Amino acid sequence: MNIILFGPPGAGKGTQAEKIINHFNIPHLSTGDIFRANIKNETPLGKKVKSILDSGKLVPDETVVELVADELSKENYNDGVVLDGFPRTVTQAEALDQFLSDNGRQIDAFITLDVPEKELINRILSRGEGRSDDTPEKIKTRLKVYREETEPVLNHYEKQGVVKRIDGVGSIEEIFERIATKLK
Ligand code: ADP
Repeated sequence: MNIILFGPPGAGKGTQAEKIINHFNIPHLSTGDIFRANIKNETPLGKKVKSILDSGKLVPDETVVELVADELSKENYNDGVVLDGFPRTVTQAEALDQFLSDNGRQIDAFITLDVPEKELINRILSRGEGRSDDTPEKIKTRLKVYREETEPVLNHYEKQGVVKRIDGVGSIEEIFERIATKLK
């Protein structure tokens, strides 16, 4: 099963991705996690993207698409993947669709987590992960980027009929139950 987990910053994509991978035994691919690990390890990719992540803006499509294509070509993703944080632009979505169809695969479910904006900001500020992009000003930038560049991706997958809308307000368990029901 190839799943996209979608939603604004703070919607709980990472938290729910963890639960999905454990329950359905599908590997997780988070572009944000990969970038942060590269920054931490001071790799060439990390050096290239550090200032972009710090600003709350998006890494160029070309860089992200190449990274994801490399990852998805690994054997452990052969039977499926939970994509989290990707695709984040329509260009990325089109590249992903092409990559999957070239490999005889497709997106089976696009799960979008609905959470009101006020709650998003509260969640990010209170989660205290110490991320350099979790300041009020950077969160504002990330939400603006989400609305302008990322939300159109939802429309792209609406056309493919794979979108499953999930109410993202409630306990972690409640939200996971809603997702699991839709995936069965
Ligand atoms: P969040 O959803 O909380 O903003 P992520 O961990 O998904 O957190 O992403 C953190 C940052 O990593 C983004 O603000 C962006 O700079 C970069 N990033 C992650 N995924 C992508 C992507 N698919 N395209 C471009 N930039 C990305």
